[in-house]
Amino acid sequence: GFHMQSQEMTDGFNLLIDALKANDLNTIYGLVGIPVTDLARLAQARGMKFIGFRHEANAVNAAAIAGYMTQKPGVALTVSAPGFLNGLVALANATVNCFPMIMISGSSEREIVDLQQGDYEELDQLNAAKPYVKAAYRINHAEDIGIAVARSIRAAVSGRPGGVYLDVPAQLLGQTIDAVRGAESIVKVVDPAPAHIPSPESIQRAVDVLKSAKKPIIMLGKGAAYAQAEKQIKELVEKTGIPYLAMSMAKGILPDSHPQSAMAARSLALKEADAVLLIGARLNWLLAHGKGKTWGGSPDREFPAKKFIQIDISAMEMDSNVPIDAPIVGDIVSSVEALNAAIGKDFPKVSKEWVGTLMSKREQNVAKMAAMLSKDTTPMNFHNALGTIGSVIKGRDIHLVNEGANALDYARAIIDMEKPRRRLDTGTWGVMGVGMGYAIGAAVESNGPVVAIEGDSAFGFSGMELETIARYNLPIVSIIMNNSGVYRGCDPNLNPNNANDVPVTAFVKNARYEKLMEAFGGDGYYATTTAELKDALEKALASGRPTVINAIIDETAGTESGRLTSLNPQSAVKK
Ligand code: ADP
Ligand code: MG
Repeated sequence: GFHMQSQEMTDGFNLLIDALKANDLNTIYGLVGIPVTDLARLAQARGMKFIGFRHEANAVNAAAIAGYMTQKPGVALTVSAPGFLNGLVALANATVNCFPMIMISGSSEREIVDLQQGDYEELDQLNAAKPYVKAAYRINHAEDIGIAVARSIRAAVSGRPGGVYLDVPAQLLGQTIDAVRGAESIVKVVDPAPAHIPSPESIQRAVDVLKSAKKPIIMLGKGAAYAQAEKQIKELVEKTGIPYLAMSMAKGILPDSHPQSAMAARSLALKEADAVLLIGARLNWLLAHGKGKTWGGSPDREFPAKKFIQIDISAMEMDSNVPIDAPIVGDIVSSVEALNAAIGKDFPKVSKEWVGTLMSKREQNVAKMAAMLSKDTTPMNFHNALGTIGSVIKGRDIHLVNEGANALDYARAIIDMEKPRRRLDTGTWGVMGVGMGYAIGAAVESNGPVVAIEGDSAFGFSGMELETIARYNLPIVSIIMNNSGVYRGCDPNLNPNNANDVPVTAFVKNARYEKLMEAFGGDGYYATTTAELKDALEKALASGRPTVINAIIDETAGTESGRLTSLNPQSAVKK
């Protein structure tokens, strides 16, 4: 049929930018190349922020952490095939961690890819992405861009958040359509992450379990941090008097100094508790699957003698590892609000004895740690170096990125967090390589200072992004905990026939990482003592300049695999 056409035309490039902007998605983390260079250029010309990276995984990690910090999907952009695959690792990591984001990748000609006729960067990206993401879509027609972006946003942030892949064939970007028709196709998503109100029965069941408990604890996970439920959680914790613990990225939902924090008495709390309220924390490997010795179980008793209450937006999370006595399926803000409303005057006071047992254990452990931190040595060890960093950043509003094995385990225990969502770390996979991507995302989103505490091995995965940090003049201080190796720098080579074989865990001794930052115009510090480290970090934070501090750590300090020694199989048959 006949219909009126306006004179003006628009195209795929512009419609994609329209669709993102209409939904308040104004930053793209990416790396340009065929076929998305002009998309990035145009996005910037039209007022979007484009942060260009040196490797796609780091761009996608930045978008992922942006999603975690803001509850809006972070947006990443990559080129086709290899660029897409580079980014996919980080997109999978975002999905595993329940961080909302959208990775947009250019792709090659459908007709040629599908007949496998050998196109430039040929890959069936849509199907390659599917197993690793929450949702994957491809847009074939310019008039579908609005709906496709709307679906991507909803998929990323509704229910359990996760990573979304959006496939953008090169030919789509150049497709032109009538501008009026184009404008009408843009969708502004209404209520992208609707509240999920828990059922009243589930709340009553949970209150009943809590009321009958003698030794209850609350375990906060990063889902609670993501949900921005700090107000509701503070009320719940303080109103019930129940001691709480926080998973690593949940530190700071309540300040770690909170009098009810049982974090320094974790082992005792998990073993002895008779009721556990999980809020946005999964009973995965990080919590020993809710069973076994950690939870006071014995070889003849598979499930520990405990009642579990779990709040999660994903109904399928319930009973994943142990039976959940009181599942609450709902969003955390609504669920904790409902719990608070249902906890009345008749709610029993938590036993003084239980709280006292945990708190005296906490005091003992804090004293032990303080003694370790105060022992100054040259070269430094993880304890006195991290104690020094912790004392410098105390009281400042800083985002802390942390990865490594020992650098991670010790920093988690040593450095207190005072505010929610400030600690960004290796998360659910325990993955190395998130460091500079998370640091850049955190600096861009918060517009504030970031300190990245990096094992020397972990740093290597994203180290070239120092150039990105320098280029955008971001206030990021990367502290390399340099013990010259993976885990440690002192491990021997086991080959009896060649004493010169480089040990599999070794790096260049005394590597001068700080000079990398100097090469890009930022500041570098070489610190061999706690006094030099303190001085360097104070100067770096005062200047707000891109900085690397190379902190030389005793190469015999630390243990293989950090706290994960039990997951690292060792050959019993050495040949
Ligand atoms: P941690 O590693 O800190 O224990 P996890 O990533 O294992 O945390 O668990 C986070 C949980 O939080 C996931 O099961 C996820 O479904 C849930 N979650 C995320 N956002 C919300 C929300 N807004 N409301 C309820 N649950 C949420
Ligand atoms: Mg090391």
